[in-house]
Amino acid sequence: SNEILYCIGCGAKIQSENPNELGYTPESAVKKGLETEELYCQRCFRLRHYNEIADVSLTDDDFLRLLNQIGESDSLIVNVVDIFDFNGSVIPGLHRFVGKNDVLLVGNKSDLLPKSLKRSRIKDWLRQEANKQGLRPIDVALTSASKGYEIDNLLELIDKYRKGRDVYVVGVTNVGKSTLINRIIKQQTGISELITTSRFPGTTLDKIEIPFDDGKNLIDTPGIIHKQQMAHYLTGKSLKFASPQKEIKPKVYQLNEGQTIFLGSLARFDYISGGRTSVIAYFDNNLPLHRTKLQNADKFYEKHAGELLQPPTREELKKMPKLTRFEFKVSEKSDLVFSGLGWISLSPNTIVAGWAPEGVGVLIRKAMI
Ligand code: GDP
Repeated sequence: SNEILYCIGCGAKIQSENPNELGYTPESAVKKGLETEELYCQRCFRLRHYNEIADVSLTDDDFLRLLNQIGESDSLIVNVVDIFDFNGSVIPGLHRFVGKNDVLLVGNKSDLLPKSLKRSRIKDWLRQEANKQGLRPIDVALTSASKGYEIDNLLELIDKYRKGRDVYVVGVTNVGKSTLINRIIKQQTGISELITTSRFPGTTLDKIEIPFDDGKNLIDTPGIIHKQQMAHYLTGKSLKFASPQKEIKPKVYQLNEGQTIFLGSLARFDYISGGRTSVIAYFDNNLPLHRTKLQNADKFYEKHAGELLQPPTREELKKMPKLTRFEFKVSEKSDLVFSGLGWISLSPNTIVAGWAPEGVGVLIRKAMI
């Protein structure tokens, strides 16, 4: 039709002719936007999903400038992390930037953890992990942005701690920050609907401002990429294994020394020594695990990666960096974490190795569960 359409983000007139001009939206996206009643121009769409700043790295001047500005403001800082990938969620040095401001820590994706696990325990664990990073949150909240759990509670906490101040929401990409913001907007408790965007002074970064009823704003900041996350090294169908959508069903393995478990061909776990032991694997329920002898594991991988050992497919494997090995001596009940993919919980007095694509964080932490 000839109906004139407007972007619900910036208000620009939607057009599909000139990609370099305001309001550009590919025709397919216009159709989809009308169906879902969420029609954004490409720029706003990208902004909302942060692809616009996809290349920003952790030392990027703009991002540091943004953090400095937040530190100098009088505000409540809401730091969203992914509880499934805490280490891949940390903003390095955030505690140095917050200044005198309070930080409310939000552990998102709570739907992934076993329901039997006490929420108070997860919160305690999150607080401890934050403390290790130098961050002293005023409170901790657990949410599931995709399932809509505990959003009301989060809004209450924000209201309690902001004390008439602006609220900055910060987080690295993939923690579910945009899903959460969209939930908050839908909930609308004490938040007006009008969304505006503006630029952080002295940067190329845009912020999204959602006004509270008292004239202050909830300000969504661009996410920054944390290169340790598995998601950055995957393409195609394999990506979904780095973003589970369902409660993780732990898998228990009885292992002898000298056994290996392949996680598709995305990663690998070697049980080196420590006697017979049981380990518990926490990964996307559909990620196929394959047990074999450590002795033959290299040859096995060479032969079966991308075929018997999937994901990824052989084609996708070409774009994935080679697996690199990290060895650990485990002295207390610990998790061997493959950043963004999941973890294996281990008994003390064992020696293990974890392999992941070069660049992906592999580390040992105090057991979460
Ligand atoms: P952002 O980059 O931080 O804005 O993250 P997105 O909102 O784009 O979400 C990143 C990925 O995490 C997407 O695949 C989402 O579907 C997923 N996700 C977001 N919130 C949740 C959640 O609460 N639980 C689960 N299981 N996945 C989520």
